[in-house]
Amino acid sequence: MVVEIVEAAADIRVARARMRGEVGVVPTMGALHEGHLALVRRAREENAHVIPTIFVNPTQFNDPKDLLNYPRDTERDLELLRGAGVDVVFMPTPEVMYPPNFQTYVTVENVTQGLEGAHRPGHFRGVATVVAKLFNLTQPHRAYFGQKDAQQVAVIKRMVADLNIPLDVVVCPTLREADGLAMSSRNRKLTPEQRQAAPVLYRALIAAQLAFDGGERDPEVLRQVMRAVLVSEPLAEVDYVSVADADILDELREPIMAAALVSLAAKLGSIRLIDNLILG
Ligand code: AMP
Repeated sequence: MVVEIVEAAADIRVARARMRGEVGVVPTMGALHEGHLALVRRAREENAHVIPTIFVNPTQFNDPKDLLNYPRDTERDLELLRGAGVDVVFMPTPEVMYPPNFQTYVTVENVTQGLEGAHRPGHFRGVATVVAKLFNLTQPHRAYFGQKDAQQVAVIKRMVADLNIPLDVVVCPTLREADGLAMSSRNRKLTPEQRQAAPVLYRALIAAQLAFDGGERDPEVLRQVMRAVLVSEPLAEVDYVSVADADILDELREPIMAAALVSLAAKLGSIRLIDNLILG
């Protein structure tokens, strides 16, 4: 099957208008892995058409070096999408998404303040803006996101509800490597030593999970449990560990009563990795 690669805004509208039945969109930044493909497969099961998008969105990178170094592998991405039975891929250029004199941004408030938002100023403004634009261009019935980026999911759900965007947000589980490391495009940038150290993030989450299963409900104790595991790995530099309300993402100070999001971020060299689990 031939994949139609669409770059222009007008052309994705034409491709969309041809589609009959329900449409699912899968926004990605490319450098695809099994985690992305799982979203595409789920979208294929639930819709007549799937539009994966590949766009390394400059407005969500607070660090220009990170944007420059972000892995790109378009030929392989298209090969993988062809294999997944996709017929149209939307792959705009930065100029298509942000033409001269662009000046409108979507700001989601409280839920963007903590966690990734606190460490990456402006990140979620860029995410919300580009996702709103992708929704407007592709007019999907469903949009597929990974639990791997838990705060992103909370932000998109908030935006969709607040702006009355007529689609369902579908959240898919985090795919992991055999040693527990959450799949991520950034993993391919790790050195062999860093790659070997990287599962420490998942081990820290599992330690919190085990403590929780053993009856521990104090969020501060769970944060300490995670921190202790992370600092045992000399190559990892902790950005944050968090135990937060699973919906509004406020950091928990009182014993856990409802579902809690345990999440963390750590750097291995210059590569910043994140991961999370839901407790309860
Ligand atoms: P990205 O290309 O990193 O922006 O990711 C595109 C989409 O794939 C987002 O919805 C991510 O949450 C999702 N995703 C990334 N990694 C994984 C993973 N390991 N498992 C499931 N979904 C993922």
